[in-house]
Amino acid sequence: MPQIESRTKLPVAILGATGSVGQRFVTMLANHPWFEVAALMASERSAGKTYRDAVRWVQTAPIPEAMADMPVTRCEPSKTPPLVFSALDSSVAGPLETGFARAGACVVSNAKNHRMDPDVPLVVPEVNPDHVALIECQSFGAGSILTNPNCSTIGLVLALKPLADAFGLEQVHVVTMQAVSGAGIPGLSSYEILDNVIPFISGEEEKMESETRKILGSLRTDGIDPAPVTVSAQCNRVPVIDGHTECVSVKLSRAVSADELLEAWRSFMPEPQQRALPSAPQRPIHVILDPAGPQPRLHRDLDGGMATAVGRLRPCPLMDYKFVTLSHNTVRGAAGGALLVAELAHARGLVVRTADAGRIQPALPR
Ligand code: NAP
Repeated sequence: MPQIESRTKLPVAILGATGSVGQRFVTMLANHPWFEVAALMASERSAGKTYRDAVRWVQTAPIPEAMADMPVTRCEPSKTPPLVFSALDSSVAGPLETGFARAGACVVSNAKNHRMDPDVPLVVPEVNPDHVALIECQSFGAGSILTNPNCSTIGLVLALKPLADAFGLEQVHVVTMQAVSGAGIPGLSSYEILDNVIPFISGEEEKMESETRKILGSLRTDGIDPAPVTVSAQCNRVPVIDGHTECVSVKLSRAVSADELLEAWRSFMPEPQQRALPSAPQRPIHVILDPAGPQPRLHRDLDGGMATAVGRLRPCPLMDYKFVTLSHNTVRGAAGGALLVAELAHARGLVVRTADAGRIQPALPR
């Protein structure tokens, strides 16, 4: 492959570019080494405006210059580049994502609509990288759909995976304290959430329970066998801007010491880190020894918001151990997680599967 062509960046579109997660995509893709934003798409409300006029920008970093004056268009599959990131509202995501896949795009979605489809991989690259191969069973021609799990599930499975591998995992009980950014823009009114905790997030507990079993499950030729682990989740909305905190109790398959558990977390160095994928955190799990950690304000931005922090490990009188895990819901739990899924799939040669593949395959680090 000629050197000049192998360095070409892959054009990508962002669906739902104006929303909370879409804005994170815009920020994280601004200087991406492999991908370049070619299209920003949203609803009829935004189409026809420049991005800066259409968006209600809520990030602390300014709108990247290269994208501020780009036009926002309707979600139009006929104009798709080879890779599409979807941050669409779930009320519209399902058929639109199917349309882009049928038009030949590799769609990496944050929405819930396709997550539990039998032939759609639900991927956390450090946890179940092999599941991306499931797209070979899909019937979209050169196109495909991969999904990113629910934001609270991602932090949970990152903490559980090293324990499941080393000691076996039988039962999980988790209570979440979830940030308001998880509810999108504009989200809850201040009158609803300030001075308050809301012990209900529609569909969230069911998603955490079923998605965890799928992600920790085993790849078959045509689907996933869910892991035989019992998961019970209770989800709460709390007045934090970013960062989901989760109190977890686990029952393991054999007796282990707390030191063995800590070592399993510290030595976790899976495929994204081994391949040095551009968005992979140096360490996917940071063990926090401060007895008052992890905390959203202190630990959500570790490794650029892509790492999970775990701490407060102690014996559990009901199960074996209990601990606290924390992760950034719109970075690791949404745009950053989806970006890492795309990088993993691309590094495995699964994003561009047409005769054009050689022309638009960027140089990969290894
Ligand atoms: P959001 O702020 O409400 O943004 C929704 C986006 O969808 C906007 O860009 C909106 O465009 C677009 N949209 C709405 N109706 C549309 C239509 N009929 N046609 C085309 N585009 C339409 O939501 P969000 O929080 O970013 O979440 C986006 C998705 O990611 C959701 O499926 C959500 O469940 C999932 N997710 C969110 C988080 C999180 O922490 N926020 C984490 C994980 C997953 P306009 O601005 O033009 O209306």
